[in-house]
Amino acid sequence: MKIKELFKQKTVLSFEVFPPKRTGSIHTIYRTLDELKELRPDFISVTYGAGGSENCRTTLDIASAIRNDYGIESAAHLPCMGLTKEDILTQLGQFKEAGIENILALRGDYVPGLESRGDFQHADELISFIRENGDFHISAACYPEGHNESADIVADIRNLKRKVDAGASHLISQLFFHNDYFYKFRERCTLAGIDVPIEAGIMPVANKKQIERMVSLCGVHLPSKFVTMMERYEDNPEAMRDAGIAYAINQIVDLISQGVDGIHLYTMNNPYIASRIYEAVHRLIAA
Ligand code: FAD
Repeated sequence: MKIKELFKQKTVLSFEVFPPKRTGSIHTIYRTLDELKELRPDFISVTYGAGGSENCRTTLDIASAIRNDYGIESAAHLPCMGLTKEDILTQLGQFKEAGIENILALRGDYVPGLESRGDFQHADELISFIRENGDFHISAACYPEGHNESADIVADIRNLKRKVDAGASHLISQLFFHNDYFYKFRERCTLAGIDVPIEAGIMPVANKKQIERMVSLCGVHLPSKFVTMMERYEDNPEAMRDAGIAYAINQIVDLISQGVDGIHLYTMNNPYIASRIYEAVHRLIAA
């Protein structure tokens, strides 16, 4: 099923997982999925490390298993940085063969040296190319606080509109910890004529190191109450995990009450955290 159909029925709950690192066993992800499937998310998306056909194969295999073996709709991430049109055509052919109907089309994070090798500069070019070369539902990334390379939020929204005009019919947001950024962003999208469903990306924080990495990578703001929480529990991993879960639940309850189209949970491949959040919010999502 194409993901856009899901939004016609209800508030969507989706999960994101990532393939194991090269040194890890592929079986770990299937153990994670065995547990996540019990939560019956509307779809699960699978990330893809920019810059390699081997990465595509792993993402493809996992996305295919989610759909065909676990019976849950899946979406494969596809970052185009460093890839040629021919590479993309090959990958689209493999997606089609595996029955994958949904693609999250991305430029990808900068990998030194890669950007000069490919045929695509930005995600909107990839989106047009996919639309011209297959019958896929195309999602794109969006940034409630602005993308960290953007000159300003206006330029960022203009570029987001290019992705929707090119054929993206659903957006998934970067993680954020202050819902007001998301609400202001939604208003800007409406003013700019962006009228596709926007899922809010929520990342439950499990430890301080993880969050410091995210902040340096994406430049998201941390509200002072969030910083206070991290300082209080940084030496107590279980309390930090519980506080992170409670914080994410609060964000989600507020988002649902404000009519969000969907919640995209960055599970960090941690079914325990995902299930605690699911328990707390699934009735609200279904209501
Ligand atoms: P773009 O839409 O190309 O935007 C990148 C920058 O260029 C922005 O500043 C934008 O304003 C600007 N821009 C866009 N279009 C134009 C244009 N036509 N002309 C001029 N400027 C333009 N990365 C991975 O490598 N693998 C993943 O699996 C992955 N999954 C992700 C999932 C989600 C939900 C999100 C939010 C991000 C994910 N990323 C992933 C990270 C993403 O690749 C990076 O954030 C990357 O830096 C930007 O990707 P994009 O598709 O948004 O790029």
